Amino acid sequence: MRDICQQFIDGHWRSSYGGRCLDVIDPYRETVIAKLTAGDARDVDASVRAARQALPAWRRLSGETRGHYLEGLADGLADQHTALCQTISLNGGKPLAESQLDVDDAIACYRYYANLARQLDARQGEPSAQSIAGVEVRRYFDPVGVVGLITPWNFPLVTAAWKIAPALAAGCTVVFKPSEVVPIPEQAIADIAQTIDLPPGVLNLINGDGPGIGEALTQHTGVDKISFTGSNPTGESVMRAAATGVRNVSLELGGKSPIIVTEDADIAQAAYLVMNGIFANAGQICSATSRLLVHQALAEDLYAALNQHIDALVMGDPLDEATTLGPLVSDKQRDAVSRYLAFAKDEGLIPVREASHRKVPRQGFFVAPTVFRDVPVESRLWKEEIFGPVLCARQFASDDEAIAIANDSDFGLAASIVSGSHEKAADIARQLSAGSIWTNMDQLAPPQAAWGGGKKSGIGRELGPEGLSAYQELKQVMAPSR
Ligand code: NDP
Repeated sequence: MRDICQQFIDGHWRSSYGGRCLDVIDPYRETVIAKLTAGDARDVDASVRAARQALPAWRRLSGETRGHYLEGLADGLADQHTALCQTISLNGGKPLAESQLDVDDAIACYRYYANLARQLDARQGEPSAQSIAGVEVRRYFDPVGVVGLITPWNFPLVTAAWKIAPALAAGCTVVFKPSEVVPIPEQAIADIAQTIDLPPGVLNLINGDGPGIGEALTQHTGVDKISFTGSNPTGESVMRAAATGVRNVSLELGGKSPIIVTEDADIAQAAYLVMNGIFANAGQICSATSRLLVHQALAEDLYAALNQHIDALVMGDPLDEATTLGPLVSDKQRDAVSRYLAFAKDEGLIPVREASHRKVPRQGFFVAPTVFRDVPVESRLWKEEIFGPVLCARQFASDDEAIAIANDSDFGLAASIVSGSHEKAADIARQLSAGSIWTNMDQLAPPQAAWGGGKKSGIGRELGPEGLSAYQELKQVMAPSR
């Protein structure tokens, strides 16, 4: 594994101004697998200057040409598919099968925005759909400018793709800061940019930690927009920083998403969807459906089915294809989730059965997959994002009750409904406050469909055409009609 002691600025890998190094850890073996340079404000400044200098020529290129470069990034990731999956599992701890989905999703995202970039050429100067008597209105889509992109560790290539691809498609230039916790997979993006001769300065990647690099990036007034994915406290400080200079900001923050299982649901299907909703990536997903609302008539059967599934989970080396539940990403994250298990004890929460606290491997930052039942709505575990393999369940007597409890949350990112009737599921979905709702299906996030939520889950949308709009300024040119 290579040490990452450089920054990718203005088309070249160069030494960091920051002299310190950070350890990058394998969360299964608990060993140092690389050293990461801890850049500082000088690295940020150099990369913002490079991005600013590259902006005029990049935005002038046709959408067709920018799309060509985005296809190049997708092809480059596809060429390294196997190695990238292994790196994501090694550095982040997720099972290989999940890493494969991540790489596939990242590639699909670059290809999707390559296509939207090409379509942009025909859309520049399109007549407005709103007619104004005697006035002709034409619409142009300008790039926002230099954008600072900050991503977390849970989906390193995917969260990066969701920001980098639409930003480049729109004609923005980028300063990208990956998380210091899982930084290794993302370095490939800079390598590929170099291989495909992406013009220097269009994509800069700077390594370091939140205080050293992240804060400096959000505070740099040469950055026109910040797009951030991560925790709510950091999201709030990003927003405060963006207030200086009235700069644009998009935030993709936390969630406490419900999964509702109605009286007529199929138990086997419900158990499968509940399991995937909370134990994929060991629950470290912003949209994890961590609040289970199950109709009282089905509750005991569903808990029994969940116990069987939990017993079948294979905890171990993420690089072993048999593994289905990996360690948490870091000791810090394991400790944060373990604190919630201690709160649960203090609150007297009831696990569905003691044996559901499966023994975890001796090695690695594991937390046992855990389900609590009859969790009071006042419980900290019911209300707060845990970001680990911990499911809180409650029973309900009527769909109206389930909807009211589901909506009683600070967050509004996602929801899932399992029902024997598609009509009933659709009706419940219409009454839920969430950005993405899945009915009787897996929790997909395809690039064509917008992603994001309301309340404390964030501001704005990623993916889909909305994800491109997030990096555009709409310009309207008016003239007397001829
Ligand atoms: P953070 O919000 O601290 O980290 C997210 C990104 O922001 C990382 O790149 C981080 O850098 C960077 N960052 C940290 N501090 C600052 C700052 N002051 N200014 C600008 N950028 C900063 O999340 P954590 O990694 O600490 O995870 C904590 C909790 O956040 C989790 O338990 C979970 O609840 C939530 N979370 C939510 C995610 C989501 O998808 N919505 C994803 C990850 C976490 P660095 O990592 O290098 O410090």
